[in-house]
Amino acid sequence: MADDTAGGAGKVDRAGPAGEVDAAVEAALSEPGGPVAPGSTGPMDGAVGIEMRDLRRSYGAVRALDGLTLTISPGELVALLGPSGCGKTTALRALAGFERPDSGQLLVGGVDVTGVPANKRGMGMVFQAYSLFPNLTALDNVAFGLRLRRMPARRRRARAGELLELVGLGAQAGQYPHQLSGGQQQRVALARALAIEPRVLLLDEPLSALDAQVRAQLRDEIRSLQSRLGITTLFVTHDQEEALSMADRVGVMRSGRLEHLAAPEIVYGWPETPFVAEFVGTVNRLPGRLAGGDTVEVTGQRLPVLEVGAQGLAGDVDVLVRPEAVVVSPVPDGAPAAGPGVLGKVVQRSFRGATTRVQVELPGLARAAVGGRGSAELADLATDDASGLVVADVPTIALGDLAPGTQVRVTLAERAVLVSARI
Ligand code: ADP
Ligand code: MG
Repeated sequence: MADDTAGGAGKVDRAGPAGEVDAAVEAALSEPGGPVAPGSTGPMDGAVGIEMRDLRRSYGAVRALDGLTLTISPGELVALLGPSGCGKTTALRALAGFERPDSGQLLVGGVDVTGVPANKRGMGMVFQAYSLFPNLTALDNVAFGLRLRRMPARRRRARAGELLELVGLGAQAGQYPHQLSGGQQQRVALARALAIEPRVLLLDEPLSALDAQVRAQLRDEIRSLQSRLGITTLFVTHDQEEALSMADRVGVMRSGRLEHLAAPEIVYGWPETPFVAEFVGTVNRLPGRLAGGDTVEVTGQRLPVLEVGAQGLAGDVDVLVRPEAVVVSPVPDGAPAAGPGVLGKVVQRSFRGATTRVQVELPGLARAAVGGRGSAELADLATDDASGLVVADVPTIALGDLAPGTQVRVTLAERAVLVSARI
């Protein structure tokens, strides 16, 4: 893992940036997208909107983009989120002009740029990591694009210095990339991308090589800088937490197209498809049956659901419920089994700070299962085939005594996030 200590051993002789990234950095920096005024690090005037219309791009039999349509409002930060190989980088490269779509249109500020070369699009890019020129100081890295634009040396040094200040690295101007931590290097890369005053900022997994703490900090810094500058931004990541916490809107991609584009809380709470529900966060799948009036019977309760009609479902369904909507209460020995909800037994409890994740085996619900990215930690848990499993995220202060082995009653609060066809 990347450490964040300056000049860490093993970084000194690290190879330079990959050739392709190197070329991309140079191309993106090489021509003016517009005049670069000295000392302008304030909010952008006239931020531009972006439209991707039905973009398609195949590599042999692989459809990397399969009809991607996406709009980004002026000044907005949209995060493209999706599993590895779903086409995120291809989308970003198409927007940057490094990849020519087979068909479809790209508009920036209302102008069709589909045929415009990368170096005329005025976009700043930050890649995963280690894309700095290793033989240039931090200051010269940031000044690189300005030099290509023939900005006079004094002005360009002054501006590069300002940009380094902006990312909190004023004191590191003279250091070389190998003398900087991973987080510092990515700050320099960000400053370099912003130095040319791009109309659009493109970030491709810029934090994924950093360790968790630095990642979280830099996430906040990038977000606040982006808002302050008001620069239209496309941020690509496979990390749902990153996407949810940074973006104005999150676009969840699958197999080259967009499944859902909405504000983070909508994507999480009102996902449009089961794929989105399970990719973004953890969900319980519980067997249920659709009842009248957009309600579903599940765990002996009746819960409201949204837009059942639109999904064309009827009868037996899976009901998708977030862990925080699962209520677990102890059942005293010998208590009657009647009442809402279903009975089960706590099988595991993991403390996570503010919440504690409680896993409950449900002997009466053989089809209950947990899915989603957060479910990897559940893989080692075996239930016999006749039992289902549900997870609940309980506020730790309200946990009480839910030790493994405790008999509990499980009920569902709120509505189901989604109903889906039985799988
Ligand atoms: P992501 O960034 O979401 O991980 P990519 O956009 O990099 O996905 O890739 C999408 C799909 O296109 C993958 O199946 C990938 O292997 C394929 N692909 C991407 N670039 C190329 C290329 N230059 N040549 C061949 N296949 C490619
Ligand atoms: Mg990628």
